[in-house]
Amino acid sequence: MTARIIDGKAIAAELRGKVAREVERLTDQHGVTPGLAVVLAGNNPASESYVGSKAKVTKETGMRSFDHRLPETVSEADLLALVRKLNADPAVHGILVQLPLPPQVDAQKVLNAIDPGKDVDGFHPVNAGRLASGLPALVPCTPLGCIILAKTVHPSLAGMDAVVVGRSNIVGKPVAQLLLAENATVTVTHSKTRDLPAVCRRADLLVAAIGRTEMVRGDWIKPGATVIDVGINRVPGVDGKSRLVGDVAFAEALTVAGAITPVPGGVGPMTIACLMVNTVRAACASAGLPAPEV
Ligand code: NDP
Repeated sequence: MTARIIDGKAIAAELRGKVAREVERLTDQHGVTPGLAVVLAGNNPASESYVGSKAKVTKETGMRSFDHRLPETVSEADLLALVRKLNADPAVHGILVQLPLPPQVDAQKVLNAIDPGKDVDGFHPVNAGRLASGLPALVPCTPLGCIILAKTVHPSLAGMDAVVVGRSNIVGKPVAQLLLAENATVTVTHSKTRDLPAVCRRADLLVAAIGRTEMVRGDWIKPGATVIDVGINRVPGVDGKSRLVGDVAFAEALTVAGAITPVPGGVGPMTIACLMVNTVRAACASAGLPAPEV
């Protein structure tokens, strides 16, 4: 058996197309053009590349992009003042502060200062709490992408045994909450879980968000299961350049799983597409319009 490969790149492109159509409709019919402000402190190369891609896609989908670059030495007070300014700016519907922040800045304090209605990363405790309470919320982008990908294979996740490996606030916990909201039976595992392979083998839907190169082996996977690999791990390639691999041993998994996301080209492209979705949702909510069809 060879698993079906879930084409995150194509699904993300389709989603960005839907967002662009929605942005056009909002602008034409309601005079609302969604705006996303991205704040980058310092010059971490990975962060610069993420921020560049986010700004590019924001513009491509017809939204306004506001770029705020601050020096590595920025003070916490200055960063908080910028967040407050963006909170008050009616042209800004979404605020994203790129992590990690320099060590002199308390990242949680900065995230907590973002207006929850503009918190398009979904990291504010109010949004995390609303998600956990089953209330409408802005939800973290990567977990939202995982659910959209899983639903391309299983339009209903109700009753499925879902196992999430990893319990970070950014991926594992919100994925688990979203799966629960989809009526899956959810098990969340972590570094202290006993006999992780056996727990994973029970999963109809397995989500790996660990940050460990190819830790999930083929024999951890139930035959026919759907596997969503969130991991992005950089390893040395044959030509001296590095390459990206996931948290799942892809070649092994391919012979056991029913469907699987590749790395790269699986969950990764969905993250930015879902950021665009959240920005449109935030813009609609702030204008008192119904939630968009994306
Ligand atoms: P964290 O390091 O914050 O969390 C990792 C989780 O994995 C923790 O809950 C940890 O358990 C668990 N874990 C670590 N080692 C083991 C082990 N040996 N057995 C079982 N569980 C283990 O990572 P993130 O959640 O931020 O990211 C996870 C992965 O997803 C990374 O590869 C990251 O690069 C990738 N990622 C990809 C994104 C995308 O856009 N595709 C976006 C965000 C992340 P414990 O809590 O007990 O320590």
